[in-house]
Order: sequence, then structure tokens, then C-alpha cells
Amino acid sequence: MKCNIQGCIGEYEKKQVLHTLNSNGKIMVIDHVPAEVCKICGDILFDPETVRRIEKFVNIEAKPISTVPLYDFNKDPEKKAI
Ligand SMILES: [Zn+2]
Repeated sequence: MKCNIQGCIGEYEKKQVLHTLNSNGKIMVIDHVPAEVCKICGDILFDPETVRRIEKFVNIEAKPISTVPLYDFNKDPEKKAI
């Protein structure tokens, strides 16, 4: 399928992506989410069933399999936390 982004000549291909979302300030990361990803610009599409399943993780506050360090780009990485 041709990319939806105006001016992009790319095609979507099926991939699994690492999806990060921010639900009212609560940041969640879901790995291996099936998606269509544009080979050129990287635009990502999820089908409605995938969106529904992502919402389920948010709504039931699913127990994570692991936790990840969270960084803020605006904070100086060389400054040690007190
Ligand atoms: Zn594209």
C-alpha cells in the first residue's frame, strides 16, 4: 500500500514496532506491536484491532513484563541525580 503522507513515494510494509504512548502522563512502552511502516518516511499505521488491543493494555493497566529507564532529553545526562 502506498504511503499516506503527502509527497512520500514510499510503500508500507508489515513490521513489529516498539510503541510508546503517554496516557495522561503515564508512559507505557509496548513491544512487538504489529504495524504497517513506510519504508521511506517511517509513517506507522495500526489496524483497528491493534488499536483496540493497545487500548486494553492502557485501560486494564496491565502488569508490565519489565520496566525501562526513562530519560528527559532536556535534562543534562552528565549531571548526577541527588
Ligand atoms: Zn512515507
